[in-house]
Amino acid sequence: MIATDTSESLIRLEQIYKFHFTDTLQTAALNGLDLTIKSGEFVSIMGPSGSGKSTLLNILGMIDKCTRGQYYFKGQAINALSKRKVADLRKSNISFVFQSFNLIDELTSFENVELPLIYQGVSRQERRARTEAALAELEMLHRRDHYPAQLSGGQQQRVAIARAIVTKPTLILADEPTGNLDSENSRIVMEKLQELHKNGSTIVMVTHAQSDANYAQRTVELFDGNILMTEQEYAAL
Ligand code: ADP
Ligand code: MG
Repeated sequence: MIATDTSESLIRLEQIYKFHFTDTLQTAALNGLDLTIKSGEFVSIMGPSGSGKSTLLNILGMIDKCTRGQYYFKGQAINALSKRKVADLRKSNISFVFQSFNLIDELTSFENVELPLIYQGVSRQERRARTEAALAELEMLHRRDHYPAQLSGGQQQRVAIARAIVTKPTLILADEPTGNLDSENSRIVMEKLQELHKNGSTIVMVTHAQSDANYAQRTVELFDGNILMTEQEYAAL
């Protein structure tokens, strides 16, 4: 076991197991996984379908709980916290970007981006300024009153990224953010994530595309709910 300085780690997972139970079946989606992510890192997660990538992201994002193991966020043990405390921690620190954009159909671009600020209890005046700034940053201010159905996929994902950054999150989690985009829009999304990373955001991104993973500083390979080691890591054992 290599001793690591965990003082600056934003995320530390220790021996994480996640079992999914159905009537007839128990699936181990994560199988004793250890992972440390430092503040400011840009990490990509790759691996075959069913290897546990989304499960891992949902646990990191505190929208799902591990069955066994410890998750430390900023040094704080998540499993020991009440549901409400976890929800508060999530709201003030974590944003998601999804493959299918997940905008609310009945809300305009502006209203979609504003929503997390409403949940945070930000004043109307500040909400307006920050929402407009986030839309402008993604070059979507001219579509502020459009509904998702009136936007292209690339535009919807830009609104979704504006929604993700409007809260100035500590951690951005992206689950195949370019999965539904053409190559030009994929490039725009990846360059935006890279820029956010350069400005200090911590980003964990699931992807199938090596071209996307190349934007990250390192890649974590999952297989059957655990991390595959690199050749260098095997060599260092
Ligand atoms: P990936 O994102 O890498 O494709 P997932 O994390 O979605 O993988 O799934 C990992 C494993 O857990 C798969 O075998 C999948 O079938 C199973 N699984 C995921 N979610 C559930 C669920 N809600 N109920 C039962 N099994 C699930
Ligand atoms: Mg998945």
